[in-house]
Amino acid sequence: MRHYCIETYGCQMNVADSELIAGILEDDGWVRATDAHGADLIVVNTCSVRERAADRVVGYLRSLAPLRRARPGLRIVVAGCLPQHLGERLAERLPDVDLFIGPDAYRRLPELVADPSRDPHFALARDRGETYEDLSPLRADGIHAYVSIMRGCDRACTYCAVPFGRGRERSLPAEAAIRATREAVESGFVAVTLLGQAVTSYREGERDFAALLEALAGIPGLCSLRFLAPHPGDLSVRLLEVMRRHPVIARHLHLPLQAGSDRILTAMRRGYTAAEFVDLVARARRTLPEISITTDIIVGFPGESDEDYARTVEVMETVRFDSAFTFAYSPREGTHAQRFLADDVPPEVKQHRLSAVITLQERHSLERYQARIGTTQEVLVEGPARGTPDRLFGRCSDMKAAVFSPGEAEEAEEIRAGEIARVEITAASSHTLKGVRRR
Ligand code: SF4
Repeated sequence: MRHYCIETYGCQMNVADSELIAGILEDDGWVRATDAHGADLIVVNTCSVRERAADRVVGYLRSLAPLRRARPGLRIVVAGCLPQHLGERLAERLPDVDLFIGPDAYRRLPELVADPSRDPHFALARDRGETYEDLSPLRADGIHAYVSIMRGCDRACTYCAVPFGRGRERSLPAEAAIRATREAVESGFVAVTLLGQAVTSYREGERDFAALLEALAGIPGLCSLRFLAPHPGDLSVRLLEVMRRHPVIARHLHLPLQAGSDRILTAMRRGYTAAEFVDLVARARRTLPEISITTDIIVGFPGESDEDYARTVEVMETVRFDSAFTFAYSPREGTHAQRFLADDVPPEVKQHRLSAVITLQERHSLERYQARIGTTQEVLVEGPARGTPDRLFGRCSDMKAAVFSPGEAEEAEEIRAGEIARVEITAASSHTLKGVRRR
């Protein structure tokens, strides 16, 4: 028997791709190893979004050197955005790797791994038609499944390396997306997250993202449907209306703001102004008053003055996000910003701005979480809470994490992962709601 293991770096898209790769390998007779030591094939699925991604992958592969010496037949594959983006420059740093494979070539993995004739292999050809619609991912047990409904991104945000790794947009045919979601639910995954780099750009003929979401919301047995990540530029009134009509769709939008200064937003090529973003949030909250809005913010983008930074703080104060991923800008190789814009905000200024937005966001998060105290929320149970096994962990419809006591003993036995509990919220921190299960 041949054994494989997969090490995954990066975002949910990469987690979903690792599930796809596992499905491809197991269809070819491979069996999952418990860890790298028991594997004949190690796939390192990489991401180029994070800073120093290549350094982390190189570090991990160096740690495999003793294993490589002990198992001469071991095959090592580097998959994903990083080889697609960096190609031979990455291979120069990784002499022990047998195969570099890009996100459009995964179905050739068994054939390439079986062919030792070229060393290393490069399988980095783009395929604009590849959506893997006919393949089934192999998911870990649980209640939650990712379904990738589109790949790639046609936007060209100047700081972003994703289009280099993932290529141009292509959408899964709607029937395939519906089939994949239905199959996931029939296999016991009651919560589904639709994935795409700019998921709201989904289109198949006349069918846009709102129409697809509406079709998926009707799948029997589905308890929670969410999507990551929408782009503020294509969040339509129709989409908000579809969300309002279908309570199964999570009351949550992750809307990346990135910056609050129109000058910086233009330099980032984000395609909206701060005022348009604020209006969009107001419209979303008018349509869905219970919605939570989370975001991404970058400080210290090239040319960001004190005045520009103050605009970001202003938008944060106006919107009061439920939570935010915050970053200090660092250039990604090959991007427009790295090639043409001077990284001119001093590191200590970036750090100062980053600390300040983190502190501000903590305050807003606490405020937004505490506003739920006294309400009763429907919580999709995921299992025992980590560190406090007498409590349960789950997520509210707006994706806030909740830890709660299961109530009376006989009730505690009744509730299981994948079921909905009604939880009265009695306390809150800036990241978690706490409460008690009610009948
Ligand atoms: S929308 Fe912009 S930031 Fe998001 S993946 Fe596409 S290019 Fe990158």
